[in-house]
Amino acid sequence: MKTYNPYNNVLRVVEQAASILGYVPSDYEAIKYPERELKVSIPVEMDDGTVRVFEGFRVQHSTSRGPAKGGIRFHHDVNIEEVKALAAWMTFKCAVVNIPFGGGKGGVICDPSQLSEKELRSITRRFTAAIFPLIGPEQDIPAPDVGTNAAVMGWMMDTFSMMNGHSVTGVVTGKPIELGGALGRSEATGRGVMFTAKNILHKMNICEKGTAAVVQGMGNVGSVSAKLLHQCGMKIIAVSDVSGGIYHKDGLDIPDILDYLAKDRKNLLKDYKANGIQYITNQELLELDTTLLVPAALENQINEENAANIKAKVIVEAANGPVTIEADEILRQKGIVVVPDILANAGGVVVSYFEWVQNIQSVSWTEDYINQQLKDIMDNAFQSVWNISEEKQLPLRTGAYLIAVKRVVESKKARGIWP
Ligand code: GLU
Repeated sequence: MKTYNPYNNVLRVVEQAASILGYVPSDYEAIKYPERELKVSIPVEMDDGTVRVFEGFRVQHSTSRGPAKGGIRFHHDVNIEEVKALAAWMTFKCAVVNIPFGGGKGGVICDPSQLSEKELRSITRRFTAAIFPLIGPEQDIPAPDVGTNAAVMGWMMDTFSMMNGHSVTGVVTGKPIELGGALGRSEATGRGVMFTAKNILHKMNICEKGTAAVVQGMGNVGSVSAKLLHQCGMKIIAVSDVSGGIYHKDGLDIPDILDYLAKDRKNLLKDYKANGIQYITNQELLELDTTLLVPAALENQINEENAANIKAKVIVEAANGPVTIEADEILRQKGIVVVPDILANAGGVVVSYFEWVQNIQSVSWTEDYINQQLKDIMDNAFQSVWNISEEKQLPLRTGAYLIAVKRVVESKKARGIWP
């Protein structure tokens, strides 16, 4: 298989949208390059007294429409090309839902499952200090991503505040509620995925009650998506985590599975026991016969190797970049509808935006209000993407990029090139 470079994947999608929009290369040349890339080393004293040096990154792809915005990933496969791609996806994600942010992303090469809480906190604090010159509520606002959570955001906020000499809540989002976190933020990405799944199923005249769905990944996004889709009446026939998947043709007991996983962060699906379930690999899970497939893990899961075997009618991309550009074409030929990541998983950053607005204005909103605003934004963005895709007879990903690329390019044009 060809080596996969996610940033090249982003560039090809952007170039395609820009040419459909009638832009000439100089209109969009600047957005092909991240504005800033910072690589840092993070020395940490481990619990056994040894010193280990971790490598970390923060990339700002664009600040044209507002401060850079995007998560911090702690994962052993993090690399600069991945972080660049994730940063660019954030730019287009914020643009498609029209919130006033650019895009950024960060990452540290580490395996959080092998670290104690103290080691994780030390990595977080030293990483925050290392990227300190780049971040701030008006410059660049990190948030959780794969391998990070509200606790990590709390330590980042504290480190940044200590270095400034006063509390700065708006420097990160996805914080603990006690530190100004938004109600509903931890469920927001999965909630947005659920709204998007309902929207696309309704357009395809499929009733969600009893309809089969498969969810890959049981991190924050996958587990909340599975929970909310199950609550909508969908039959979740398979879910997976790093250890593999479990399958039941009549539907899994999602609340019981989520209870089991929540009991201990070391619990894995391969050790989950229930009557009639079958253990399957992640590859088998992706290729199951299902109506809805929700990849909620990492990039490059559906690619030219396995796209021809996908049997789902519709894919809602809860992860960033789970379907490659080559796979997109194969799926399109098979008539499989793909709702792109920049739209489907934007719920997280939308509620991050609410959190940031609350922090900088010192106000707080109720969870019902936040969930309703989130629904309105997700539904409107979905309808706009649907309309342009129907009008031009293009896949939804292209439609989403037509809207997003236009907003980013026009913001650049309106600003002009400095000096
Ligand atoms: N990491 C999330 C994403 O990929 C959320 C980013 C944010 O809230 O800034 O969209």
